[in-house]
Amino acid sequence: MNSLPVLAILATGGTIAGVADAQAHAGYQAAALRIEDLLAAVPALQQLPARLQASQVLQKDSKDLDAEDWLGIAHAVRQALADPQTAGVVLTHGTDTLEETAWFLHRVLPPSDKPVLLVSSMRPATALSPDGPQNLLDACQAALSGLPGGGTAGPRLRGVLAVAAGALHTARSVQKMQPFHIPAFGSGEAGPLGWVENGMVRLAGATAGEVAAGDWPGGAYGALLMRPIPEALGVLPAVAWLSSHAHFDPRQVRALQAAGFDGVLVAATGNGTLHHALEAALMAAQRAGFSVALTSRCPQGRIVPAPSAAASPWPIVPLPAAKARLELLMQLWCARLQGCAPQ
Ligand code: ASP
Repeated sequence: MNSLPVLAILATGGTIAGVADAQAHAGYQAAALRIEDLLAAVPALQQLPARLQASQVLQKDSKDLDAEDWLGIAHAVRQALADPQTAGVVLTHGTDTLEETAWFLHRVLPPSDKPVLLVSSMRPATALSPDGPQNLLDACQAALSGLPGGGTAGPRLRGVLAVAAGALHTARSVQKMQPFHIPAFGSGEAGPLGWVENGMVRLAGATAGEVAAGDWPGGAYGALLMRPIPEALGVLPAVAWLSSHAHFDPRQVRALQAAGFDGVLVAATGNGTLHHALEAALMAAQRAGFSVALTSRCPQGRIVPAPSAAASPWPIVPLPAAKARLELLMQLWCARLQGCAPQ
């Protein structure tokens, strides 16, 4: 019997599996190659202290992912983590909505002492100098880092993380910052959780304890995975995302209500301010049972509430807009499922 631990590699498509006619970095076809092709391009993976078990969960450009895909990915990751032989999970993914899938997984996966590494690339596999192969190797090495009894060098990681261009980011802070160049991801003010350097994980000081100590406690919306996918999808709310801006037209809010949306995440200006016409439309919508939550449209920081409790009639979600919208969606979704008690 082979005593090496299993490293589950789950593939979902993205540019890392992309191909182009020429060696271009734009105008290529994402999600074209299968996971076997991606693994074959990195011979060093065969030297890792693990048995690689690859499966193709999806084959999509991540800009096109839907709630059904998130649930399918989460079920596959949960199943892989539950196998006692599995040391960690590597999930190949497109960069465009990687932060949303990372946040979804962070909020729905059960407690675990194993890491889930999302890995992507900015250049298709056919580029003159693709970044996918190195990112894939880094992700696999990070997933096996510090494994008792013979992992790769460095501390043991836990929770949902992303690795790109040598840097590690948490699900909470990872954000795509760049549409074309490398590095494309950042962790904003938090800075990266750490790095993968020549196969070795190095954590960046103070943030290390969050993932490196103790088991990862699991997400608050785990009940979304306790129901069969069609049942969960059957109560999926509709949540939009608007931004406040100069010259705001409030008909946008009324159109969402008329179309049957359940709520909206609003990326407010600055420290949570709204165009007066948007504010009035949101007030009226909220009185009619429409859910509203706010984040700031500023790329860094979070809304700091005023000392007076009456300052904001809407909950503030301290996440970038894409993840804040997803958080509001999961909150409303969970409320429709019996036994789903978010913390
Ligand atoms: N549109 C692609 C996707 O997100 C871009 C990428 O993978 O970087 O799948």
